[in-house]
Formats: sequence, C-alpha cells, structure tokens
Amino acid sequence: MRLVKSIDQVRKAVRAQKEQGKKIGLVPTMGYLHEGHLSLVRLARRKCNFLVVSIFVNPAQFGPKEDLREYPRDLKRDLQLLKKEGVDLVFCPSVAAMYPGGYQTYVEVVGWNKILCGASRPVHFRGVATVVLKLFNIIEPDIAVFGRKDFQQAVIIERMVKDLDLDVKILTGRIVRERDGLAMSSRNTYLSAEQRKNAAILYQSLKWLKQAYVNGLRDPKTAESRMAAMITARDGRIDYIAFVDKNSLEPVKELRRGTLAAFAVFFGKTRLIDNTVLGSNLDIGHLFIPM
Ligand code: AMP
Repeated sequence: MRLVKSIDQVRKAVRAQKEQGKKIGLVPTMGYLHEGHLSLVRLARRKCNFLVVSIFVNPAQFGPKEDLREYPRDLKRDLQLLKKEGVDLVFCPSVAAMYPGGYQTYVEVVGWNKILCGASRPVHFRGVATVVLKLFNIIEPDIAVFGRKDFQQAVIIERMVKDLDLDVKILTGRIVRERDGLAMSSRNTYLSAEQRKNAAILYQSLKWLKQAYVNGLRDPKTAESRMAAMITARDGRIDYIAFVDKNSLEPVKELRRGTLAAFAVFFGKTRLIDNTVLGSNLDIGHLFIPM
C-alpha cells in the first residue's frame, strides 16, 4: 500500500494503473477510521482493481464555529487498518495542496445545500461538493463509495455527478452501528460516558418510527413530536427532525415507503446525525459485532 501526499504523484500512480486497464475505486474519508468507513472500503474493494482511499479533513466543509481543530486524527492507525483491507493507495494531501493561496472556486448543488443539515451548516455541502469534485478530478475514479449515514451528502454528490456529466459511478453503503445501535461516527469520541449512553436513544427512536409506520402511523408531525420527546428526555437537543422524499428531499405530507426520516441532535456540543428510509428493512443499517 502506497501513501501519497502530492496531487501530481497520485495522478501519475493512478494513470499508470488505468493504462493497464485497471478499474479505479475511491472512498473519500476524513480519517479516524471506524467499521463504517471500513465497510465502504470492503464494498469498493469488490468493485474495482485499484482502490484509493483519501484521508483529508476538509476545512471548506467546516463552519467558523465548528470542530475543524478538534476533529480527531490518527493517521498511523488509519494506515494500519487500510493496509489490512488490501487498499492500494492512500491519498493524504495537505490543506495547502488542496487549497493553495488564491483559491476561490466552489461548487454548490443549489437549494439542497441549504436544507436539513445545510440549514444549520450553511457552508458544509458547498465544501463537500467542492472537495469531492476535486478528488474526482485528481483521481478520476470509475467508482466512488459513500455512506448512507450521510444520506443528504450522498444525494448531493449523485446530483452533482449527473449535473456536471462526471464519468464516475456512485455507490452507497449501509449504516454501520455500535452494539446499542448508535451509528458509528468519528465524532462519537467527543461524547462523555453519560452522553454516549443517552445517545442510544437516537437508534431507538428510529426503530420506534419504523414500527409505528408498520402499525399505520402516517402523520409526520406526530412522528416528529414523539421522536423529539424521546430524544429530549435523554438530554438530546434537536437541531432538526425531517421527513422528506428520499430522492427529491421534498418534505412529505404523509409518511410512505421511500420517506427518508433524518435528524441531527446535539448531545452537549456534539452534533450527531442518523436516518432511516421507511418501508425498507435494509436501511436501518446493521450492527457491528466485534469478533
Ligand atoms: P467521514 O470520514 O465522516 O467524512 O466519512 C467518510 C465516509 O464514510 C462518508 O461517505 C460517510 O457517509 C461514511 N460513513 C461514516 N460513518 C458511517 C457509518 N456509521 N456507516 C457507514 N458509512 C459511514
């Protein structure tokens, strides 16, 4: 497994593989890897013959008051994990390489970048779309894999790929969860022991919703207030709870098959997100049982 920091070098390395007819896969990450990331790496590994994982904590997707500085990092451990997964190349550029002085070009998937998570993180999706487009231009992958944990992000990337005629196939992987159902996230390390215990309510509220839907619940407002009550009873502070069509991201008047239920909740200063798609068993994700 090669570790490459320079844009020129990664281009050369990937192009040499392309010339040999290899199919290139990319899994973009911000590092501090967990089983959720690794599940995407395994999915990508099966779909390509040369697998690149990028590790880059992208400043453009953090707001001025967000956790860019505190964001956890452990490159040594990440590299060990990726080596075990049979990754071919890890691209780990510096901020100066990605955003040199004078940088002023950004990509916006208009509208969708201001709703749901975009409402409280106004620059977030612009930063995500920009860095992902840069990575696509640098690596020119045939396939790229994103997690449905960040559902809105995946939908935005798919839209950008269509709108800008990018020649890359987007695949998405299911949500990987801890034993108590909390979606794995690099940010879970910020939680105190008590917050960590309380955060299990997020998964429980999604399970409640799935069952209530099966039992006939159709009113999004009732669903929202019941879920909000469950979460706030465990000291979670709701940023948003939304019920939208999973393709258009338009709010739904009635819960139905294909409705995306998504939320962001603060425990202390830590903002956690999770989601599920109604009418599908798969999208509640699966539990990671350590061996
Ligand atoms: P991040 O490092 O947080 O930017 O995430 C990199 C990729 O991993 C994104 O496509 C995320 O959606 C995905 N991801 C993060 N957490 C999980 C999880 N628990 N299950 C599946 N995918 C995840």
